[in-house]
Amino acid sequence: MTIAKRKFDTLVIGAGGAGLRAALQLSQAEAAVAVISKVFPTRSHTVAAQGGINAALGNVTDDHWHWHMYDTVKGSDYLGDQDAIEYMCRAAPNTVIELEHYGVPFSRLENGRIYQRPFGGQSQNFGGEQAARTCAAADRTGHAMLHTLYQQNINARTHFFDEFFAVDLLKNERGDILGALAFDIESGEKIIIEAKTTLIATGGAGQLFRTNTNASINTGDGLAMALRAGIPLQDMEFFQFHPTGVAGKGMLISEGVRGEGGYLVNCEGERFMERYAPHAKDLASRDVVSRAIAVEIREGRGCGPNKDYVLLKVDHLDPEVIKKRLPGIRDISLTFLGIDPIEAPMPVFPTAHYTMGGIPTNRYAQVVVPVGTGAEEEIPGLYAAGECACASVHGANRLGGNSLLDIVVFGRAAGKHIIDYLKTHRQHKPLPDETVEQAVQRLARWEQPASAVGHSATVESVSALKAEFQQVMEEKCGVFRTEEVLAEGVQAVKSIQERLKHAVISDYSRIFNTARVEALELENLVELGLATVISALSRQESRGAHSRVDFPKRDDEHWLRHSLYYQQDNRLSYKPVRTRPISVDTFPPKERVY
Ligand SMILES: Cc1cc2nc3c(=O)[nH]c(=O)nc-3n(C[C@H](O)[C@H](O)[C@H](O)COP(=O)(O)OP(=O)(O)OC[C@H]3O[C@@H](n4cnc5c(N)ncnc54)[C@H](O)[C@@H]3O)c2cc1C
Repeated sequence: MTIAKRKFDTLVIGAGGAGLRAALQLSQAEAAVAVISKVFPTRSHTVAAQGGINAALGNVTDDHWHWHMYDTVKGSDYLGDQDAIEYMCRAAPNTVIELEHYGVPFSRLENGRIYQRPFGGQSQNFGGEQAARTCAAADRTGHAMLHTLYQQNINARTHFFDEFFAVDLLKNERGDILGALAFDIESGEKIIIEAKTTLIATGGAGQLFRTNTNASINTGDGLAMALRAGIPLQDMEFFQFHPTGVAGKGMLISEGVRGEGGYLVNCEGERFMERYAPHAKDLASRDVVSRAIAVEIREGRGCGPNKDYVLLKVDHLDPEVIKKRLPGIRDISLTFLGIDPIEAPMPVFPTAHYTMGGIPTNRYAQVVVPVGTGAEEEIPGLYAAGECACASVHGANRLGGNSLLDIVVFGRAAGKHIIDYLKTHRQHKPLPDETVEQAVQRLARWEQPASAVGHSATVESVSALKAEFQQVMEEKCGVFRTEEVLAEGVQAVKSIQERLKHAVISDYSRIFNTARVEALELENLVELGLATVISALSRQESRGAHSRVDFPKRDDEHWLRHSLYYQQDNRLSYKPVRTRPISVDTFPPKERVY
């Protein structure tokens, strides 16, 4: 059967904030752009972002991009690349103003300027007083941004393939990426999208863990596609646990709640963050607050009948503030907890939230891989931006409000670089049959009905295996880690990967494409799970979100370096952190206190 083929200048895989920002840049420059998304674009996870986007506009407190840079480097526990961080923080004010001009309906101050709220890890003057740097559209900032970017793309005539699932990247022998194989989820029809340049913008992999804040579509497909194409993944051991998820369920309660004056208490009614972070208190960085909650519970000061959560209080705030600035949070609390936060505190517990690791990129969003000793090379025509990329601006721990910034800054950077690249690369490279065949084979595995796979007694279902996998990741690779437990994790994930080879998607004679998607997603997740536990087992120190009970200290001498995980032989290698910014002095590693 022949497969339909389409050719474009650029293929953007993913229609979240990163993909849409890049596509807009390209369509406005008259490039032929295809954006494919497995859900309708405005359902991408960016839509769920609550708290806001950071930029040193200085509308509420004094501010400067250099202070923002300092906070981000410190927040990253010095693992972030300082050239990329400088680039992002300097670009932030203009990027936000640009969003405003595109039509993002930001909340306003009395004087008409964009409203900014304080968020965790923000300071004035390199570690001084709390700054208010997060620009917000109430507590629905991502929704406002995503819809605006989508409308702008429609206006610029970007070509969308909605509800198409990208299976694998296509490449030639040299490793040049030539597009992707995808299929239409409704009809199952396959399509080859050939492109001179490809941008991976597929978002994060929060579905690695059972309790998480992410949409069910956040399965890290782009990261797994990169792995299969021979590209290593960087810093996968660093996964952010957000301190305030709805206890037992995981939905996010934005840091904006603490930004507006909310705080955490234990069963004794103590505001315990004062002990862990005397200066920043509840607005310490996320890794610090998540660990503090875990310790309070472990030491018996949790709340509720099982003492397994802490409380987030806002009932001391003016109800009007809650209604105006946190309406979405109030909805979530009413719906999932049955509690009106105006009247009573909300039970919260840390929940898996953000993938710091990802596809290694430089500050132009080009994918870079190591060649020989110490040197790096770009893969011509291949880009990654957003949560799937590792620029690395977040290092070992991301600051709240920096991801919405990351996606638009590096989405735009990718668009700009691609426009230049296309000027000198006008032809499509020939597409070898073998690469298409390989991708088709991966899909074919899930095209047979259960009856064809046979051996009913030993057959396992994909959904059950997924639940088991997520549970393993949560238990073996959570907030606190040890060698023993991580080693068990590696074995457990490997065995699930083996069992998945024999699993089936359904016992019914009619198999829906959505079930195929779930199976392909689980294959992706399991590969990423392995990357995560293996990278975590190897890193013998505690840094940012990676907290090893058996190696409680940060060890800059041995571990101030990025890890790179290769799928082949589950191999790890390491590369130095780029500590040299573009135009200012390096921030050298210091002890990190809040
Ligand atoms: C609940 C929540 C609240 C948050 N709040 C904030 C906040 O206030 N501030 C902040 O800075 N950050 C916040 N974040 C983080 C931030 O929202 C995300 O990191 C960011 O939006 C990711 O954007 P993205 O463009 O990289 O990916 P996404 O928005 O996740 O989009 C990924 C896209 O890839 C597509 N895709 C994936 N796989 C495939 C495939 N195989 N085939 C085809 N298409 C595919 C999807 O359809 C989707 O269009 C929050 C995150 C969550 C989960």
